[in-house]
Amino acid sequence: MVVPNNEDRQVKVSVRPLVEYVFRSGDIESGFRTAAALHEGTRIHQQVQKMYKEGDLKEVSLKTEILYEDTVYVIEGRCDGLIQVDNGWMVDEIKSTSSDISHMEEGHVVHWAQAQLYAYMVAKEQGLGQMKIQLTYIQVVTSEEKRFRRELSFAELESVVMEIVSRYAPYAALRIRNASRRDESIQSLPFPFDTYREGQRKLAGAVYQTINEEQKLFAKAPTGIGKTLSTLFPSVKAIGEGLLQQIFYLTARTTTRTAAEQAFELMQSKGLCVQTVTLTAKDKVCFQEKVSCRKEDCPFADGYYDRLNGAIMDMLSSETLMNRHVIEQYAQKHQLCPFEFSLDVAYAADVIICDYNYIFDPRVSLKRLFQERKKKTVLLVDEAHNLVDRGREMFSSDIGKTEFLELQRGYKGKNDRIHETSRAVNQYFIRLKKECGEGKRKLWMESPEELISLLDLFVQEAERELQGNANVELESRPLLLDTYFASQNMIRISKLYDERYVTYAEVTRNSVMIKMFCMDPSTLLAHASKGFRSTIFFSATLSPLHYYRDMLGAGEDDYSVTVPSPFHREQLDVRIEPLSTRYRDREKTKDALVRLLSQMVREKKGNYLIFFPSYQYLYDIYESFMSDNADLRTIVQGQGMTEEEREAFLASFRSDNSETFIGFAVLGGIFSEGIDLQGDRLNGVAIVGVGLPQIGMERDLIKDYFNGIGKNGYNYAYVFPGMNKVQQAGGRLIRSEQDTGILMLVDDRFTQRQYQDLLPEEWKG
Ligand code: SF4
Repeated sequence: MVVPNNEDRQVKVSVRPLVEYVFRSGDIESGFRTAAALHEGTRIHQQVQKMYKEGDLKEVSLKTEILYEDTVYVIEGRCDGLIQVDNGWMVDEIKSTSSDISHMEEGHVVHWAQAQLYAYMVAKEQGLGQMKIQLTYIQVVTSEEKRFRRELSFAELESVVMEIVSRYAPYAALRIRNASRRDESIQSLPFPFDTYREGQRKLAGAVYQTINEEQKLFAKAPTGIGKTLSTLFPSVKAIGEGLLQQIFYLTARTTTRTAAEQAFELMQSKGLCVQTVTLTAKDKVCFQEKVSCRKEDCPFADGYYDRLNGAIMDMLSSETLMNRHVIEQYAQKHQLCPFEFSLDVAYAADVIICDYNYIFDPRVSLKRLFQERKKKTVLLVDEAHNLVDRGREMFSSDIGKTEFLELQRGYKGKNDRIHETSRAVNQYFIRLKKECGEGKRKLWMESPEELISLLDLFVQEAERELQGNANVELESRPLLLDTYFASQNMIRISKLYDERYVTYAEVTRNSVMIKMFCMDPSTLLAHASKGFRSTIFFSATLSPLHYYRDMLGAGEDDYSVTVPSPFHREQLDVRIEPLSTRYRDREKTKDALVRLLSQMVREKKGNYLIFFPSYQYLYDIYESFMSDNADLRTIVQGQGMTEEEREAFLASFRSDNSETFIGFAVLGGIFSEGIDLQGDRLNGVAIVGVGLPQIGMERDLIKDYFNGIGKNGYNYAYVFPGMNKVQQAGGRLIRSEQDTGILMLVDDRFTQRQYQDLLPEEWKG
């Protein structure tokens, strides 16, 4: 629904969301039902439309205006087909489905409503007194067809349409009220601080200009200028100007989501009235002990859609900043799944604060929800340097043999088709194992077509089984469902496969796996942000800028801005210690390194963080360090720390610690980014090594790929990502104008020109 910044009380709404809102009912389904239908939908639509006769029309755009109470509803949609009958038309609404339709006796109420709305629009436009309507259902696997027909007079159609609009009207009225309150509040919203901090105005101006000109911006904006507010404030103003309707604030981590929420709290305290929704991962917000979203297992899924509209109206009438806590509260009140509820409310929100994957990950199919407002939406991508590797993960996919062997065994005698299709995949892996040999790898540059075809067959059978549910024993179900999703992802990724991908198989004694690895996510990232009005990629360490522009899919005309640090060079005591930390030299330089670290922390009482390139190196040095410095208080980052352990780690950096305190952590880990230890909570940081990722096959593939397209592959695969980690870790030290501290960089490569050039200006002498 589009609620314009209006005085004329006009509401634009598309047919589908309108009827879905009015008629949705029932339970949450596990999601697999619609997946194949979506995947096959276009093909099936075309297949049916091909059978139309001459004079029949397909994909017909329709529009009508309905006055209800004091509001004009502009309803738009595209009907699948108009078939010529007698002296008029029959609306054909085509639905592909993965459900068993053999026993289907009646069309779905939402589909009838959709078709009747189209029929009304055609009849009104052409002055027809009577319309025929047809629902065509096609089963995606069997291609079975089922048709249902009705005939309605114009008066009957009109009464259906008025009924739909009247049921939608309270929701529309609430949205209009909220939108006008929002717009008024934005008009008078001042910048929430007395003055702009240094650099803040520059960034905010660049963001506004980029939105105004419908461009992309790559912003290197240092810590200390208030990046969150500098991007949010101009975006909010752009809503007030009618340039935008929605803001997505996309983050890699929960902590940065909190920063965005706090920025809205601040602006709200200055009078702003926008509605924000924070999306939290399903497994984190789930109310149940185990995520199992079937109505039989979860009371919050059972009858979810029957209670949804009431809950949305309730929350949107009373709340503005809908964070996790608020969403959980209303979800409990209305007995709704908090995760699905947050997604359904997001559709009506002005601002959505969420993880990158809601926009970029092909596995998350929420995009349809936001399609109609895309052109009036800005994507604010926080800490955008993380999106390179996250993009690689999202666009890559792997699958192993083990699950198929288990399914083959588990379904023997229970479901022959699952047994057979799993066996076929398992056989494929056995052949692959023989071909490669144990302990070996095989690489090829195409998508594994034979495997994809076998997975396709497996997915069809798994879908049938999961849907029918008749033979599924409860224990087998999770494995079947997980393998179904993994297979579907392989199929999906195979459709994206191009020269930026490589496929490899890895054979060990007990397993065989195959992976389609995306070496260069830039094109797919650019594609995912296509159609949005603007995208702002920003980070303190978007450096070197040309590399990040390249990797995040910048076009030649996209904008860049670099904002200098507001901090002074004098706040930092940078020391470069030219000691080799290369793997082969570590034993040799161990004692010297321990001496350097001991000297630094003993020079002045304070809190220190020391970063290492790996846990192994960290533990090794820690042991020697402690044998020399047993009197010092320390804390060590562990692998797989719980949330409480992480909090305890950070909490031990107290500004009133009476003795020197040292944290040992890994570069690129949870404590080297996104933590904020202001003032005396942190007095010194040492970084051991230049952060290069561990040499490995995937990194080497990236290197070779970029070498092959005329770039410096070693820099793209190792040096740039490594030095980014160094910059992030070093950036923990100076968090405000008052902070001072020692930054020790230990590695002889820091003295080389190439690495020197990659250091932030304020670190250079
Ligand atoms: S509450 Fe948990 S189990 Fe229930 S529907 Fe939501 S995510 Fe699924």
